[in-house]
Amino acid sequence: MPEMCPKCGLPKEICVCEVLDRETNRRIKIFKEKKKFRKYMTVVSGLSGEEMERTAKELKRMLACGGTYKNGMIELQGDHKDAAKKALLQLGYQEETIDMS
Ligand SMILES: [Zn+2]
Repeated sequence: MPEMCPKCGLPKEICVCEVLDRETNRRIKIFKEKKKFRKYMTVVSGLSGEEMERTAKELKRMLACGGTYKNGMIELQGDHKDAAKKALLQLGYQEETIDMS
């Protein structure tokens, strides 16, 4: 007998509850940080692992800016708050999971 999911009753192998939970509960935050010499950095937090790496690469390409990622934070050079949100929407993230602050 395969292990069954208590939530949907399907075998765990084909159940997508965990994926859905993760997507529903995920909150992405976009905020701006002031750096030295009046420069800004845009931070996108709330992603992790491979998804964060992939998204960081896409954001850097779409916004044509430099950036790094570590500890669940994507740091983009410059002030790209609005552009970053647009880019995330284009990448398929849901508007209601994105917080701007
Ligand atoms: Zn399930």
